[in-house]
Amino acid sequence: MSLAFSLERQVALSAVARACRLTSSVFNKLVKNETVTKDDKSPVTVGDYSAQAVVNTILSRAFPDDPIVGEEDASDLKSGTSETAQTLRKRITDLANEALTADLAYGDVADWGLGPGRERTTEELLNAIDRGNHAGGATGRMWTLDPIDGTKGFLRGEQYAVCLALIVNSRVELGVMGCPNLPHDLSKPDGPRGSIFVAVRGQGAEQRTLTLGDPKPLQLPRLSISELSFLESVEAAHSSHSFNDRVSSTLGITKPPTRMDSQAKYCALARGDGGAYLRMPTGVGYKEKIWDHASGSLLVTEAGGMITDGRGAPLDFGLGRTLGENFGIVAAGADVHPLIIAAIKQTKL
Ligand code: AMP
Ligand code: MG
Repeated sequence: MSLAFSLERQVALSAVARACRLTSSVFNKLVKNETVTKDDKSPVTVGDYSAQAVVNTILSRAFPDDPIVGEEDASDLKSGTSETAQTLRKRITDLANEALTADLAYGDVADWGLGPGRERTTEELLNAIDRGNHAGGATGRMWTLDPIDGTKGFLRGEQYAVCLALIVNSRVELGVMGCPNLPHDLSKPDGPRGSIFVAVRGQGAEQRTLTLGDPKPLQLPRLSISELSFLESVEAAHSSHSFNDRVSSTLGITKPPTRMDSQAKYCALARGDGGAYLRMPTGVGYKEKIWDHASGSLLVTEAGGMITDGRGAPLDFGLGRTLGENFGIVAAGADVHPLIIAAIKQTKL
């Protein structure tokens, strides 16, 4: 008897591995005019669109009935008539096809529409991006995808992650994250880098190479307060650094925080770099997106940690495209998590 979600796991690993190769190659070729600006002013690159096109194309082929909640939508891309829009569409088509038609690698199945000769048209790829328009909700199966989480880190050549998760009846069952720039050892930033992380509920979490080899099981170490440091965003607009400093003081944490872009923070946490990830809002109104936390939350719990919002409530992935009722995020080892929640209660926001 095969393990639960084994097909989904393999498809998600293949899709994320291909998307990681694509994003690395986009970074190496990136030129300024390939960056457009979204309403929220975050940079969206050709990499976001083409990575979403690749992952959604593979998911749609392997699981045609599953809806997808993806970060990007292709409406601007489809309607633009300028030369820049046309160049962007061609670049996305070329990049997505390069990724989809690359030789079959570990675990790939040609039936998922992969391998030489399986090019798609621009229209098919833009429609695949728009398969990500699902509204989310409490029941049934759905995938959620952030094709490049941490676009600011990506553009700086620092941390970003390709994040894909399967949610069934509001519960994350499978999470895969590709971190092409994450050093294998954070204390050796110039050493070897790049890993793919995977977790299936009840089956544990592991770290693999970008070519999906060398699986290493992940287990959060038990860390005392004196060994603990916070993992936090680089961008001060995304979470309150000063609040984290105050919680650190309340807890008596002396180590400085490690700042890192993207959900790579969850991967670092799950393998024991740091000890706690704290993300408290900088203002009112921002609602965390499900694709920014689904895969990371499962990785942390399957590595033996705990994750809740800043008030200690479970994350609710069944309310649509956002974690609408949650306030902030706290992920940490199961022993220190309650201490952090207690310290937050004593600390002025
Ligand atoms: P990080 O790299 O951890 O700072 O997180 C990157 C993510 O922050 C992006 O995926 C955005 O969706 C998200 N984001 C954008 N604006 C905000 C905000 N005001 N508060 C919290 N997260 C945000
Ligand atoms: Mg994101």
